[in-house]
Amino acid sequence: LLMERELDVMNDKSLLRRQIHSWKENKESVAYVPTMGSLHEGHISLVRLALSHADRVVVSIFINPTQFDRREDFKTYPSSLDLDISKLSDIPVDILFAPNIETIYPFGAEDATVISEPSLTKKLCGKYRPGHFDGVASVLIRFFNIIQPDIAVFGQKDYQQILVVKRLVKDINLPIKILSGPIQREVDGLAMSSRNQFLSDRERLIAPEFYKFLKNIVTQIKENNRNFYELEKESLRELQAKGFKPEYVKVRHADNLQEPNNEDRNLVLIAAVKLGKVRLIDNICFSL
Ligand code: AMP
Repeated sequence: LLMERELDVMNDKSLLRRQIHSWKENKESVAYVPTMGSLHEGHISLVRLALSHADRVVVSIFINPTQFDRREDFKTYPSSLDLDISKLSDIPVDILFAPNIETIYPFGAEDATVISEPSLTKKLCGKYRPGHFDGVASVLIRFFNIIQPDIAVFGQKDYQQILVVKRLVKDINLPIKILSGPIQREVDGLAMSSRNQFLSDRERLIAPEFYKFLKNIVTQIKENNRNFYELEKESLRELQAKGFKPEYVKVRHADNLQEPNNEDRNLVLIAAVKLGKVRLIDNICFSL
């Protein structure tokens, strides 16, 4: 079936559902990539992954108010819809769904039904961004219900988010397969993020030290330094000395983010720091 795909930009959920329904009648599979826009190569890599797993691809852009723990962060979150549309037009995406807040929260974001996973969401980033993962789960369930994709694709940059989403889907029996794509980085190693554009020139020079530092910790662990607690504590000091304000640096079990025991082999080094006003997260999965 050789067919030129042309990007269809939609903000109406009934039209979107009608289109998706017609694909499903033709037995075409649908993959979905949720984003908050200001698209970079990290997002685009997920779109490519989606394209390789399904007949049709829907991307959403929605800056979700309920996942911001600080109102200021929501108000200043970058938005560049025209540029995003042109980036998506270069690859064979079928639909960009860019709804307004009322479409997603018909009773208002303040009075929205909340989906709250009580365990994974309380750890790590959840401690520093109270309510964040409830907002993520609550918005995703809405998009999943509107789009009803066969597959949804997420980036490993937000490692905790993937585990929360997988758990949610399993827990409430959503018939959606969750795929994840590797972290895309700048040439100097900094994980791509829509928020990186807020780094000052000086901060942008320091930022790649974060990933370099994490790589170094993983090397040390592999070279048989298994005193995770000491490594974590020392990491906070060293990151501070480099100019970061670390929130956490943790070695955790890769499947459930629990503290590893001596037998655990699949681990993730996961961390969050602030650099000026910008919050950076990163992680490295590794096995022993
Ligand atoms: P966001 O627009 O930041 O909400 O991210 C939308 C999706 O893109 C999420 O699944 C993120 O994990 C993913 N993503 C963001 N940055 C990257 C990156 N550098 N590499 C891979 N995926 C990413």
